[in-house]
Amino acid sequence: MSEFTNESVAAIENTLNEVDRALERLRVGTYRLCQVCATPISDAELIVNPLLANCPAHPELS
Ligand SMILES: [Zn+2]
Repeated sequence: MSEFTNESVAAIENTLNEVDRALERLRVGTYRLCQVCATPISDAELIVNPLLANCPAHPELS
């Protein structure tokens, strides 16, 4: 029996999918770049949120 509710499983899967996408961006060399405008994302922001995929001007759209 799982202790997880369907909602927490969905949230966990969502986070793991974000990790997958971050690793893929790392592989193809676009990890530090905003997905919208390709502006480099600062180290400070990536340290706070390593899954950040967009610059501050473009809050998460994905
Ligand atoms: Zn941007």
